[in-house]
Amino acid sequence: MNIIMLGAPGTGKGTVSSILKEKLNIAHVSSGDIFRKFSNEDSELGKEIKSYIEKGNLVPDELTIKMIQERLKEKDVENGVILDGFPRTEAQAIALDKILEEEGKKVDLVIDLNSPKEEILDRIVTRRICPKCKAVYNTKLNKPKQEGICDICGSQLYQRDDDTVEKVENRIEVYKTQTKPLEEYYEKANKLMKIEVTEKTGTMAKEAAEQVIEKIKK
Ligand code: ADP
Ligand code: ZN
Repeated sequence: MNIIMLGAPGTGKGTVSSILKEKLNIAHVSSGDIFRKFSNEDSELGKEIKSYIEKGNLVPDELTIKMIQERLKEKDVENGVILDGFPRTEAQAIALDKILEEEGKKVDLVIDLNSPKEEILDRIVTRRICPKCKAVYNTKLNKPKQEGICDICGSQLYQRDDDTVEKVENRIEVYKTQTKPLEEYYEKANKLMKIEVTEKTGTMAKEAAEQVIEKIKK
């Protein structure tokens, strides 16, 4: 089972992916996590990647596709993968179809998360992340048991540099212009499952993941 998570920043892609990874026993590959790891390295490539992330702009397609292609060669994705944050452009989507096809695989399902903008902004500025196990917390809705400390592995939580209101505004714009067209790409392929993640109806990450599991079972 190969699943793609679409959705603007702060719609819960990472959290839904983590739940699905456990339930479906498949790998979770987050392009953002891969790039953040590189951006911490003191190399030319690290600096280049950092310059894009810092502004909330996309890393160029060629580089992104190469990195994901390498990651998809690893053993843990053999049984399937949840791609969280990739593809984000039409060129990436076309490249992914080709990469999978060469292995006799395909994209099975595309989950498209949407949330009201006010909720996105609120969720992102209160988001805290574990650098080690990547668990995601929220200082309002999903507090760790001990302030600033990861429940799972005890590491000190941090706030992403690009999780500020200004940068999120730009990331949402980038999403609209570059990634949103992928909805049509996958709609045409009959693979799109839209889910509205919102406090208004109480459909949050957990409920969204349940809907996905229901759909897969059918
Ligand atoms: P978000 O919360 O915005 O969904 P991610 O953690 O998925 O954040 O990504 C963080 C940053 O990493 C993006 O703003 C972008 O600079 C880079 N990035 C992640 N995935 C991609 C991709 N598929 N193509 C280009 N850049 C990417
Ligand atoms: Zn942790």
